[in-house]
Amino acid sequence: YRSKAKGRGSFTIFTPDMVESHKRKFHLANAIEQGLKNDEFMVYYQVKVDQKGKVIGLEGLLRWQHPEYGLVSPNEFIPIAEQGGKISAITRWVIEKVCIDLPKLREWLPHRFRVSVNLSGHDLRDSNLFDNIYEIFTRYDVNPEYVEFEVTESAYLENFASSNKFFKRMSNMGCAIALDDFGTGYSSLSYLTQISIDTLKIDKQFVHELETSERSRLVTGAIIDLAKRLSLTVCAEGIENETQWHYLIDHGCDYIQGFMFSKPIPMDELVQSPKQFYIGNTDNSEA
Ligand code: C2E
Ligand code: MG
Ligand code: MG
Ligand code: MG
Repeated sequence: YRSKAKGRGSFTIFTPDMVESHKRKFHLANAIEQGLKNDEFMVYYQVKVDQKGKVIGLEGLLRWQHPEYGLVSPNEFIPIAEQGGKISAITRWVIEKVCIDLPKLREWLPHRFRVSVNLSGHDLRDSNLFDNIYEIFTRYDVNPEYVEFEVTESAYLENFASSNKFFKRMSNMGCAIALDDFGTGYSSLSYLTQISIDTLKIDKQFVHELETSERSRLVTGAIIDLAKRLSLTVCAEGIENETQWHYLIDHGCDYIQGFMFSKPIPMDELVQSPKQFYIGNTDNSEA
């Protein structure tokens, strides 16, 4: 249980827990490809609603039902896939799955909506990304105006030139682009005038602190304001109660997403769920 990783003369003691976690990581890294082939992965969908509570979007969120480890969180396996060079296979699989699901989703929601796919920073360094997506859209006859891509500000900015080029092409094709987890990454905002995006997604950390932190209320209000001034749409994620919903709507947030409406769920369950939500006891409840 000793390693020389820190260099000559310095030893790290590996505890049995660390060995177990290392084994798990190693095992997961090597099980991704087979898992994709064996249908162990699933795309769950979480609804986004507008100010009137109408479902106007869906976010596709990846799940891995591993035969040995059970349900593994994307927070765990996405970084492992990135490190192991497996992310582009995963991304292609997710986009393809969403394209396969789209006709059924459009049947469920007759009005316009977009379904989002998350991209990782590693995807943005893959020079085949645009061609791969284009090929999948063509193969499944998908209208790009039904698709949005979400990328974190750090992933966008770490690959600034290639991201800009890629998202401009996606945008010209009709896809929308959202900056995910906004407010948690960079401190400089000057880049916002130079990038090709449609939506800011307020990180759930701010939403969860709305009731307890004046600072989080101020930051959230300021992000909504900033989005409006830049003519961007603004979406908040992580809404769990009506107080948060009220605060966001009162401050002009366009779209809202959170467990209050629905957790991410399989498509079969989604198409049985409501397409409209109401805030109890307000003048919002007619529509
Ligand atoms: P994200 O894109 O910021 O997704 C939002 C996360 O917040 C999701 O976690 C969602 O389940 C969770 N969430 C939504 N509403 C609430 C709420 O009201 N309360 C709380 N506590 N959480 C809420 P999830 O599904 O575990 O995904 C975690 C992250 O993994 C995602 O964060 C995204 O960065 C990444 N991810 C998921 N699917 C994919 C994928 O297909 N590709 C890539 N590259 N990354 C993915
Ligand atoms: Mg996202
Ligand atoms: Mg997010
Ligand atoms: Mg996130």
